[in-house]
Amino acid sequence: SVKDIEKALSREPELNQNAITVLEKRYLKRDNNGKPSEKPIDMFRRVALNIAEADKLYDKNANILASAKEFYEQMVTLRFLPNSPTLMNAGRELQQLAACFVLPVEDSLEGIFEAVKNTALIHKSGGGTGFSFSRLRPKDDVVKTTRGVSSGPVSFMTVFDAATETIKQGGTRRGANMGILRVDHPDIMDFIYAKEDKTKLTNFNLSVGLTEKFMQAVLEDKEYDLINPKTKSVAGQLRAKDVFDKMVQLAWEGGDPGIVYLDRINAENPTPKEGEMESTNPCGEQPLLPYESCNLGSINLGRFVKDGQIDWADLEKTITVAVHFLDNVIDMNKYPIPEIDRQTKRNRKIGLGLMGWADMLAMLCIPYNSDEATKLAEDVMQFIRDKGREKSAALAEIRGDFPTFKDSVYPAKGFKNMRNATITTVAPTGTISIIAGCSSGIEPFFAIAFYRQVMDNNKLVEVSPVFKDIAKREGFLTDELLDQVAETGAVHDIESVPEKWQKAFVTAHDITPFWHTKMQAAFQKFTDNAVSKTVNFPNEATVEDVRRTYLLSYNLGCKGTTIYRDGSRTGQVLNVGTKD
Ligand code: UDP
Repeated sequence: SVKDIEKALSREPELNQNAITVLEKRYLKRDNNGKPSEKPIDMFRRVALNIAEADKLYDKNANILASAKEFYEQMVTLRFLPNSPTLMNAGRELQQLAACFVLPVEDSLEGIFEAVKNTALIHKSGGGTGFSFSRLRPKDDVVKTTRGVSSGPVSFMTVFDAATETIKQGGTRRGANMGILRVDHPDIMDFIYAKEDKTKLTNFNLSVGLTEKFMQAVLEDKEYDLINPKTKSVAGQLRAKDVFDKMVQLAWEGGDPGIVYLDRINAENPTPKEGEMESTNPCGEQPLLPYESCNLGSINLGRFVKDGQIDWADLEKTITVAVHFLDNVIDMNKYPIPEIDRQTKRNRKIGLGLMGWADMLAMLCIPYNSDEATKLAEDVMQFIRDKGREKSAALAEIRGDFPTFKDSVYPAKGFKNMRNATITTVAPTGTISIIAGCSSGIEPFFAIAFYRQVMDNNKLVEVSPVFKDIAKREGFLTDELLDQVAETGAVHDIESVPEKWQKAFVTAHDITPFWHTKMQAAFQKFTDNAVSKTVNFPNEATVEDVRRTYLLSYNLGCKGTTIYRDGSRTGQVLNVGTKD
């Protein structure tokens, strides 16, 4: 009954004002006048109850309310939050719960526009789409039926971009796109230059799909073959180093294109018999098969530091509940098209990750740019993966293995059961970290005080609550200090801050690309899918600096790299300090 539900799910959500603003703007149900018709507490109840319902599929007598209560407690205490579409859509008409999709783009007009249509359906529900355009025949290739010539992948990408632009007006949030082209596609140079004009393809992130062959050719300064995907014949050669240098140059200029290591991603494909992974989702953290989707969820690490120590037992409890939650999401999701429903349920991938990493480090007084931090990153991620796998195996005993388990890589590795083909992903947590009031993903603090632009231009001022708490506890919090921090956004060189805390509150700009990359690699080591991370460069960084970072990320085993040089793009989302 409603009374029982209200009693069981009664704890007040621990939200700050920024979080409430964000929820009111996009997440809460609305009445006909566009006013929120539910409160944040109702949203968490709606999500918890809806997701718990999946238990009934496996046990007619399941105690839904007991599971709902577990899910609810994890969410309202901000220990765990699912990705935005789940918060927005669970228990509502849309019921589309996943953030990540990859759609195939076939080399035919029908195929291309089929993908455009499916993209529209996904964006409407707040999901993001990734595509590989590598199967499209190159520009100026023959079109048999019309005796004309093809306009090529880059030209077709603008169709997807325009569709996205139109859909975003009506949808819950702007759907993002990832466009990938293999480095051996004959149009690769056009692709690399596609966003040089910054007014073009504004709804796309671009990444070049790098192969091992290509990377070897770069290292040995050799030429490599371009392959026409339609005829499979060699269409020319390029000097690998020239292509690499151009990519580096353009990334230095404006952040695009990024890179993904396609061969490496496929070497770790858990279900190779199901096909090849050609693309990731928009922010790069989730490689998927064509027509696959994945729902993400993130653990807020700051919540697990108690008296300067990590409470591992509490963390384990959250991991266990989160895996149960995310596995249920797969069943409760209403997929936009039958192919996605089918492919997603064959492998049942989930993406459990984390946020509040910088908070955790600061609370433990560990500088982000230190060996101690990268070592802890490995320990934390290994713990999440191992405990997550244990829970997935336990679920499999009751619910069955994911359908392609026997043909997957797991049996040969000694796994007896697995409910999910992947468990871990490190998402950017762009919005859910605002809801949780924590630092985003595995990123360092961007600043200790800053304006943040939320969705459509709502500017919010934030001072790191973690900093305030510690300054208060350690006895150095003053109004003057807060003013000083607000002005520059940083705490180094502020004399009233003890040196160890200056180091613990290091900000992105004082962390070298080397440490950004090392951190990404540390998390990647224990992440089944991939890790969302931006390697920040100061404005004065050189092209050579970017080049060195790309090679480092390759050597350290990352699955891709995204860089951003301060000031290289207008309309930057975050700005340091309040001075200007
Ligand atoms: N995403 C999207 N549009 C957005 C933000 C996110 O399509 O405006 C998708 C995209 O696939 C991205 C994924 O959601 O990779 C996860 O992003 P994030 O963790 O920032 O989402 P959150 O759950 O915090 O909203």
